[in-house]
This record gives sequence, C-alpha cells and structure tokens, in this order.
Amino acid sequence: MNESAPDPAVHDATDIHGVVAALRASFDAGSTLPIDARLDALAALRRAVVAERSALERALAEDLAKSPEEAMTTEIGIVLSEIDHMRRHLRSWLRPGRFSVGAALAPGTGRIVREPLGTVLVIAPWNYPLQLALAPVVGALAGGNTVVLKPSEVAPATSAALARLVDRHLDPAWIRVVEGGVEETTALLAERFDLIFYTGNGAVGRIVARAAAEHLTPTVLELGGKSPVFVDEGVDLARVARRIVWGKFTNAGQTCVCPDYLMGTEATLRALVPHLRDAITEMYGPDPRTSRAYGRIVNAKHLERLTGLLEDTEDADAVIGGKDGIVADERYIPPTVLQGVSWDDPVMGEEIFGPILPMLAVDGPAEAVARIRAGEKPLTAYVFTDDDAVRRLFTARTSSGSLAFDLTLAHLGAAGMPFGGVGESGMGAYHGRASLEAFTHAKPVVSKPLVPDTLAVVYPPHTRWKSAIVERLLGG
Ligand code: NAD
Repeated sequence: MNESAPDPAVHDATDIHGVVAALRASFDAGSTLPIDARLDALAALRRAVVAERSALERALAEDLAKSPEEAMTTEIGIVLSEIDHMRRHLRSWLRPGRFSVGAALAPGTGRIVREPLGTVLVIAPWNYPLQLALAPVVGALAGGNTVVLKPSEVAPATSAALARLVDRHLDPAWIRVVEGGVEETTALLAERFDLIFYTGNGAVGRIVARAAAEHLTPTVLELGGKSPVFVDEGVDLARVARRIVWGKFTNAGQTCVCPDYLMGTEATLRALVPHLRDAITEMYGPDPRTSRAYGRIVNAKHLERLTGLLEDTEDADAVIGGKDGIVADERYIPPTVLQGVSWDDPVMGEEIFGPILPMLAVDGPAEAVARIRAGEKPLTAYVFTDDDAVRRLFTARTSSGSLAFDLTLAHLGAAGMPFGGVGESGMGAYHGRASLEAFTHAKPVVSKPLVPDTLAVVYPPHTRWKSAIVERLLGG
C-alpha cells in the first residue's frame, strides 16, 4: 500500500462482527498456537515498527508535538525492547511448571500449562498512542491470541499510522485494527472477547467492565489517578528537582504515571522552587515554547479543561509559568508550578494530566502518608528521601500501583516490573512476563495412573479402614 491507497482500517460497525469472527476462526484453526509462529509474529511486529519508524515519528509529532528523541524513549523504544525481552524469554516462560499433587493423589503429576485465551480486544488511549497500543499487543501475540486493536481517535495521526502498519506488515489472521471512537468501541464491546485490555480513564473503564460482564469476559484495566510526590527534608534538592521536572513535563504532563502533585514541608517546598526553575530552564531553555523537547496539549478540549483548572485555583500562586503564558492556538501551556494550593482546590479534585504541578505543604512524612491514604489508590507514588524509616513507612502504609524512591517515570523501563494499578487506578498488570501471564490462562494439568487405584479409598462403601486412611491423609 502507499500513502494514497484507501484507508485500511475498519470503520463500519457492521464490519466489526466480521472482523471478530474471522480472528476467532483463525484462532480456532490453531494457527497462533505454535511457539515458533508466535516468535515469528513478534519478529514481524518488530520489523514493522522499524520499517514505519519515520511515519510513526511524524504521526506522534502531529498529534502531540513529540520530538523524535522522545518518540524513541517513551514510545518506539519501549515497544522494541518489550518485543526483544519477550522473544528472548518466551520459550522458557512457556515451559510448563510443576506442582505437587500431594500424598492424597500419589502417584500422580501436576503441570501448569499456559494456554492462549482466544481473541482479545486491546483498547488504547491517546497520550502514548503508539506504546500503549503495541505493548499490550506484544503480550497478546506472545500468548498465542488473535487481536483486535482499537487505537485512540483522540490521536488521529497515530491511529491512522497504526492501521497502516498493521495492514502493510502483519498477518490479518493474527491482528486487525478497528479505528474509531465511541460508536466503534461500543460495537466492539458488544462482541464476545476472551479478554479486554483497556487503557484510559476510569469512567470509560467502568463502561468496558460493564460490557465485559455481559459475556463474563475478563478485563485488564490500566487506569490513572493522582500520583503523589513526597520530598523529604535533607535530600539533594537540585538532583531531586531534575527528576521531578523530567517526570512532570515529559509529554506536557500527559502521562498516566506523571507526578500529579508535590508534598513537602513548607521550608522544603520553598527551597525547592528555584531548583525546579533551574531544571526547567536546563531541559527546555528560557522559553519552553520554542523548545522542540516540550510537547503540546492533545486538543482544544483538554486545553480548555486545564486552563479552567488554573483559573479556578484562585488562591494559589503560579511561582513558575501560569495561565498568562498559555498560547491557546498552539495548544501550549508552559511548565507551571503552583504554590499555596489547598486540598480542596479544583486542581486537587481530579487527575491533572497536564503540565501543572501544585505544591502542598505537609508537616512531614506521616501527614503525606495520611493524605495519600485519604484519596483513591494512585497508579504510582514517588518518594524522595535519604531515610530508610521513611521508605519503610511509605512501603507499608500506602497502597499504589507501584512505588518509586528517588526517581519518576523511569521505573516503567524496568523490563521485569509488572506494571498496573490497584483500586481506582486499575486491575491487572503487564510488561514482560506479566504480559504473558495477563494474556494466557495458567491451566493445571493433572495426571494420575489408573493403576494402582489409590482413589479406591474414597469410593463408597466407606469402610472403617478406608475412613481411617482418608482421615490420616487429609489431616483430620
Ligand atoms: P481516550 O480518550 O483515548 O480513551 C481511551 C479509549 O477509550 C479510546 O480508545 C476511546 O476510543 C475509548 N472510549 C472513549 N469513550 C468511550 C465510550 N464512551 N465507550 C467506549 N469506549 C470509549 O483516553 P483517556 O481516557 O483520556 O486517557 C487518559 C486517561 O488514561 C488518564 O486517566 C490516564 O491516567 C489513563 N492512562 C492510564 C495508563 C496506564 O497504563 N495505566 C496509560 C495511559 C493513560
């Protein structure tokens, strides 16, 4: 296909049933079962991403003003390393594990066989529109499933680029893209799948879970929330500021694990501000608007929402950036840090999902923990401290999808880390081995020879000697 060829994606809701039926038929035919075929499918996906790299970069620049460097670190590179890691380990991860059947079933054997689920649906959001579409697909293909991929319509250029990539390079017996918005997703959700893997906000997460319940379809829900940062006293503020600034302003704050708000004592926050300012200048120059490393808000609707949050948080003071720096027709919001924010300000009412960092004074780690516990469970919590007791406190007394000490965002790059939320931030996890686990069923396979027939002890009639043996075996 070339650029002028017709759009390959499925849009028509009536086609959707056919697409799902075709993918189910190819799954039923067993074509996705052999491990070699799965490794080939992953290799094909890798080649496809490499071949389409410049088209994908252009699409990400168009949708979110991502630089090629950021596209590599936060999107393309993550997908490539996810594929490589999976290909390297797939055979050993699929090797059946053993479990003991115990004295009651001896002689006998127990194995755990990871079997594919069937035909799965992956629904992706707009903020990392490539990574969050293809990283789950890696797990789905590795698990031996066939896949319907629904990219986000809110990142239309990347959605189209993904549809082209799949159409040009991948086997339609394994994976098809359905582009579109609410109408198409609703039609998809009416179909029966064997797993729905959804990334996005919790309101739609509930719609997905409700539709899935209709068919008793399991779901993985990768949601968001307000991920807190606590900066303890005594840490190296210049280094801490760089880690916070990078985490907060990458992709203009439109990251699910973005530090949402910052807590510290009054004195720590005051001392941190000049370091945050320096770190912003170091990374994005004196005018981030002209920096190719600084992104844009995805669309006018989100720009309005964020502008509204700034306007409504009246009593706070923008010590860095602020609403006067907004350039609406460029969808530009400057890196903004707010001082003097209170807990009931609008900016604390919802996940910010933009380049606005409210700072809230607490009297120490115990209050920070209490504040986190008072809210919904976040996707990640970040703590900067030199004190082991503080680390232990946050580990034991806060609950979040993950907890990171002395870094932001980069923990997602840890190949062995299962990534997912808890409570309001989601359910289920993926990346690496966790992806394979998410997209397969761990089936126990039990064998017991017919001879000797030790099960005879539980068959009626229940004589006294049989009961005595059973009592003994079961610990009665
Ligand atoms: P979005 O608007 O792109 O929506 C996500 C998907 O849901 C899209 O494919 C969209 O078509 C579909 N959708 C939207 N409305 C629907 C409806 N009424 N019925 C059925 N489907 C519908 O993305 P978003 O939700 O704005 O994404 C941002 C949110 O996602 C944030 O809360 C963020 O924290 C979270 N997020 C989580 C992760 C994670 O890995 N846990 C990653 C990225 C984003």
